[in-house]
Amino acid sequence: MNISTRFVTGKLLSELSTFRIGGPARFFLEVKTIEEMQQAIRHCFSHKLSYFILGKGSNSLFDDRGYNGLVILNKISFSEDDGAGKFHVGAGYSFSLLGAQTARKKWAGLEFASGIPGSVGGAVYMNAGANGHETKDTLVDVTYVTEDGEVVILPKDQLEFSYRFSSFQNKKGAIVSATFQLLPSEEARAKQLKIIDYRTQTQPYGEPSAGCVFRNPQGNFAGALIEKSGLKGKQLGGALVSPMHANFIVNGGNATAKDVLNLASSVKESVKEKTGCDLEMEIRYIPYES
Ligand SMILES: Cc1cc2nc3c(=O)[nH]c(=O)nc-3n(C[C@H](O)[C@H](O)[C@H](O)COP(=O)(O)OP(=O)(O)OC[C@H]3O[C@@H](n4cnc5c(N)ncnc54)[C@H](O)[C@@H]3O)c2cc1C
Repeated sequence: MNISTRFVTGKLLSELSTFRIGGPARFFLEVKTIEEMQQAIRHCFSHKLSYFILGKGSNSLFDDRGYNGLVILNKISFSEDDGAGKFHVGAGYSFSLLGAQTARKKWAGLEFASGIPGSVGGAVYMNAGANGHETKDTLVDVTYVTEDGEVVILPKDQLEFSYRFSSFQNKKGAIVSATFQLLPSEEARAKQLKIIDYRTQTQPYGEPSAGCVFRNPQGNFAGALIEKSGLKGKQLGGALVSPMHANFIVNGGNATAKDVLNLASSVKESVKEKTGCDLEMEIRYIPYES
């Protein structure tokens, strides 16, 4: 069957992003297997159709006009372990759930993932991190569908990880699974529970956002710089600098992507003026055309 017969038109991207912002996708497809991902990518490659791989939409800001291409929602979701701390997980699997499940089984290394509301694929792509740990730390390899639909296994040392960066950010294709090697620990569960408790006390979990808007400049914290610049609570249209955590912009109910982008650039300007520091966006803005 031609995969394009399963494309849905006009799916609202606001329904698929934790910001609750975004217009319709020209085409939308949910994939549950590696083969379906290959077919979708091959179709886009041969028809020169732009596409965007979506995990849980927790680091993405879609445009108000939507996306003029195919949004591929990655639902490849499985988790296997060999009993010796090696976990092989589908890229659509919940990263937060993986953090909690592994800690519960007394494996250490992914406790920090608990509460990060992304997919495993999104975490690898972003090299998500918290509490002094990053996704790359326990990663062994990644299974990837290349731009032309081939499946390759890429070992960690080929992926150029750094702070919130992986080489996937410079490639077309899709992460379909990842392998992590964890270490035994009696303390893993207690550590993970402490992390989730701290998160819910310090971050606006109940409100629509995409997590930290800006990367931390070297040796500094973006949130502290924004707070120092007196910007907590600053509002533009429906977007608001969270009074709880200054590096979060939250959707007060009817925010547009334009509101968020305008507020982010106004914050960036004020912080530069008041502290001399340059802030760089961590959130991925997806323009209508790409
Ligand atoms: C309340 C809250 C708290 C957060 N806390 C943290 C935190 O502590 N640390 C942190 O690092 N982040 C945090 N985030 C941000 C976000 O959860 C992470 O960046 C997460 O890893 C994104 O995963 P996702 O699946 O939601 O990615 P998406 O938003 O779906 O996608 C993000 C990018 O990854 C790409 N991508 C996603 N999946 C794939 C794939 N399978 N193959 C290829 N490319 C892919 C997308 O194309 C896009 O460019 C937080 C967000 C929220 C809302």
